[in-house]
Amino acid sequence: WDSPWADRLWTEACGKERWLGAHERLPGAVAQLTDAQVWDFRGMERRDLVDYARRRLQRQLSQRGEDEETVKGARDVLDPNVLTLGFARRFTEYKRPAMLLAQAERLVRLLSNAERPVQLIIAGKAHPRDQLGRTFVQQWAQFVRRPEVRDRAVFLEDYDMALAEDLVQGVDVWINTPRRPWEASGTSGMKVLVNGGLNLSELDGWWAEAYAPELGWAIGDGREHFEAGWDAAETEQLYTLLEQQVVPEFYDRDAEGIPRRWVARIRESLARLTPQFSSNRMLAQYLEQFYLPAAAGYRRRTGERLRLARELRTWIRGLRHHWPAIHWGNGAVESRDGRHCFRVQVYLGELSPDAVAVELYAEPRSPAEPGRYPLRRDHALSGAAGGFLYVGDVPGDRAAAEYTPRVVPAHAEALVPAEARLIRWYPA
Ligand SMILES: *Cc1c(COP(=O)(O)O)cnc(C)c1O
Repeated sequence: WDSPWADRLWTEACGKERWLGAHERLPGAVAQLTDAQVWDFRGMERRDLVDYARRRLQRQLSQRGEDEETVKGARDVLDPNVLTLGFARRFTEYKRPAMLLAQAERLVRLLSNAERPVQLIIAGKAHPRDQLGRTFVQQWAQFVRRPEVRDRAVFLEDYDMALAEDLVQGVDVWINTPRRPWEASGTSGMKVLVNGGLNLSELDGWWAEAYAPELGWAIGDGREHFEAGWDAAETEQLYTLLEQQVVPEFYDRDAEGIPRRWVARIRESLARLTPQFSSNRMLAQYLEQFYLPAAAGYRRRTGERLRLARELRTWIRGLRHHWPAIHWGNGAVESRDGRHCFRVQVYLGELSPDAVAVELYAEPRSPAEPGRYPLRRDHALSGAAGGFLYVGDVPGDRAAAEYTPRVVPAHAEALVPAEARLIRWYPA
C-alpha cells in the first residue's frame, strides 16, 4: 500500500532491506527525518492523489454520458494543497456511511471555508441486493452535485483495491465510522500509516487498540451503546473534532509553511503504528507462534518412518471406538480450608487411561483464570476393568457447583480439540 514517495522515504531512512524484518530500527530512523522531509513527502502524495481523482472522475463522468463541459470540469476539481479527507468503504449499515452527511450544511461549511478549506474524496460500493447500501450511494452522489461543494467533494464509484491503493497513499486523514462492536479490524486505516496518513476513527477494531491522542483522533468512548440518539452524539463528536482540532492543526503553519504539530503527529504515527500494524509484524508472529511449531511438529510426526504419525492414528481410532463406553460413577466434593476437594469415579472401559485426561472445567471469570483444572488418577476401582478414581482440589472462592468434571482426549503431541473433538461431561 505504500506510495512511490513513501517507498523512497523509507528506503532513505531505513535502508534497502527495511522490509526484511527488522522494524526495531524504524522509530529511530523516523526520528532522523526532518520536518521538511516529512511535509514534502506528504505534499507529493497528496498531489498524486488529486491527479488520480481528477482522471478517474473524468472517466466516470464520460462513461455516464455527461456532456463535454462537465467532463472537462473534472480537471479542475480538488486542490493539491488542501486538507484531504478520505472516506471509502463498502456501504453497509454498520459502517454508518452517511454519518458525515447527517449535518449536510455543517459539512458544506467545512468544505467551502475560504481560509481553511477541506476536501473530501469518497469512494463506495454497495452490494446490489443491499437496498439500504444503495441509498447511501445515492445520498453521496447527490451531495457532491451541490454547486457549493462541487470542487471540494468527489465521489468515486466502484471502490476496489486499485482505487483503495491510490486513496490510502494520498489522504491526510482517513475517516472510519463503524458502529461498535461490529468492526472486526478496519484494515483500510492501517493502509494509510506507511504513507503518513492519519486516522480519525471509531474506537473499535484495530483503532481501539492503536489509538492514542498524539497519533490521531477518535470518536465514541470505546463502549457499546444501544440507546437512541447515540449515533447523533457521535456525529456531533466527529464534526467537532474536524472543526476544532483537525482543520486548525493542519493549517497552523510556521514561517516555513510547515504545520509542526501535524508533522509531529505523522512522525508518531509512522514510528509507532507502522511497525505494529503491518504485515511484516503479522507474518513474523504467525511464523513464530504457529507455522514454525507446526513445521517442527510435522517433522516429528514423519520422522523414524512415521512412527509418531502412526501412534497418533492408533490413538485417535482407539478414542473413537471406545468413547461411547465411557461413563461416570459416584462423584463427591468436600469443601475445607478454602478448597473444594473432588473425588470422581470414571469407567474408561477398554480405553487406556493414558489416552485421556480427566479435569474440572469452570468458566474463567477473567483472562487470568485457567478454566481447566487437572484431576489426578488415584487407584483403580475394584471389581471393574478400566474403572478409576480421580481426585483433585480447586480454589474455593467460587461455588463447587461451578466446576464440572469432564473427560477429554490427551496426547503430548496432539492438538486437542482440533484433532480429536471428543468430550464427555459429568452428567448434570
Ligand atoms: C482494505 C479494503 C477494504 C477493507 O476495509 P476495512 O476498513 O477493513 O473495512 C475493503 N475494500 C477495499 C477495496 C479495500 O482495499
